[in-house]
Amino acid sequence: MEQQIHITLRYNMATGKVNLNEIVYQLKEIRDTLMLQILEHILKAYDDLIAERLNRTDIYPSKERKGLGRHIRKGDPDDHFCRGRKVVKRGYRKKHRKISTIFGDLSLPIREVECVNCGARYSPLLSALKLGRYTHKETNLEHEIIEAVIDTNYRRLIDGRSIDISLGGIHNIVVGSDIDDTFQEPVSTEDLSAILADATGVKEYKGFKGELRSVIGITKEGRVEPLGCFTNTSWPEIESVIKKRIKEAQPYNIPFIYDGEPGLDDFLSDVAESQRCTWHGPRGLYHALWQDGLKKKESQPDTDTIKELIGIELPEDDFEILKEKDKETVKSKYEASKSEIKELIKTFYQKGYKHGASYLEHISDRLFTHIELWLKTGIIAPKTTSLLERVFREIGRRLKRIAWGWSDTAVTNISKMIMIRQYSREKWEEYWKEKLGIKGYFDIEIESISS
Ligand SMILES: [Zn+2]
Repeated sequence: MEQQIHITLRYNMATGKVNLNEIVYQLKEIRDTLMLQILEHILKAYDDLIAERLNRTDIYPSKERKGLGRHIRKGDPDDHFCRGRKVVKRGYRKKHRKISTIFGDLSLPIREVECVNCGARYSPLLSALKLGRYTHKETNLEHEIIEAVIDTNYRRLIDGRSIDISLGGIHNIVVGSDIDDTFQEPVSTEDLSAILADATGVKEYKGFKGELRSVIGITKEGRVEPLGCFTNTSWPEIESVIKKRIKEAQPYNIPFIYDGEPGLDDFLSDVAESQRCTWHGPRGLYHALWQDGLKKKESQPDTDTIKELIGIELPEDDFEILKEKDKETVKSKYEASKSEIKELIKTFYQKGYKHGASYLEHISDRLFTHIELWLKTGIIAPKTTSLLERVFREIGRRLKRIAWGWSDTAVTNISKMIMIRQYSREKWEEYWKEKLGIKGYFDIEIESISS
């Protein structure tokens, strides 16, 4: 049904003095207020139209009341909907409904009608707009707030507008988000070249130091596939959540890369092969030898050897596919390195470096997983958790700015949002479009502007 809105604007200008900047500045100042008033007019016109159609059943056939007048039957113990679609107008509620929008706060008069069939009083506008009893903001605003929080510029969003939302309000939006229930579609390990996990500290309520843990997949094209963010959750629990998202029952030999984090040694062992982040091999050995009583100077040659042995791996680019002709060189280097490590373990035992020897034994099967994988498949997996560390840095920077003092759920949710928005932009946009329910039921255009 087509309708029109007529807008009359009045302006004064000091002839011969005004410049372009001032005109634009003043137009910008009225932009949100103008939109808010247009919105108010559209809603009032809609309200009148709905009330008229529900009231004048003698004029409007029932198909013109389709989608209108839905209400719960008065006194129904099970809250069933009433089938009555004829009403009597009963004026307006004393209190306007305040609804926060991206243009500012809307103060909406609420008309009440009485159902002729059951006697229930309700607002046909709220029901037509699908606004629940406790809805006090629209979803575009929620979207803008979340985007602003992620970009750490929520102050700019709020300042200069009549939007009344506190940090606590933002926290509640994030906590109430359904992000946790979405993005749970199954992931196939066949499409992944590696799974990474890492943890980082976050400051939460009352200065409590929490831990944010996160697991990501790297696709064969080298893209990040967020698998989950968790706050103060045990690794076994995280594992069971991630496992539910992984499709295959059969194991694929993709490497699982981590940073020597305790509790991760057998993480996802059904679907991936653990591989300690190779960067931490030399550091771990240094610690082990230190326990054996060796000073840094004394252990340095051995940690350097380890660095060299595990450093056989190849190009700088983590995701490059290796060429067949490189295979032989890599294979012989790999075999040589493996036996050198075995030698080193023997030497450690002979010298009485118990900790050093058992450390090397423990990590030796896992240090070369990525090379073994490559020899089998030709895919180079990222050899360090540096990618995940970069992701964490980005999350951490935002959390520090906006989420200090937040609860577990809020930290988990915002981390997920940051990850999905950053690494699955398309899915993120899709998610919001779905939430906003944009289906082509309303369009508006400027017909003419004249003076
Ligand atoms: Zn009724």
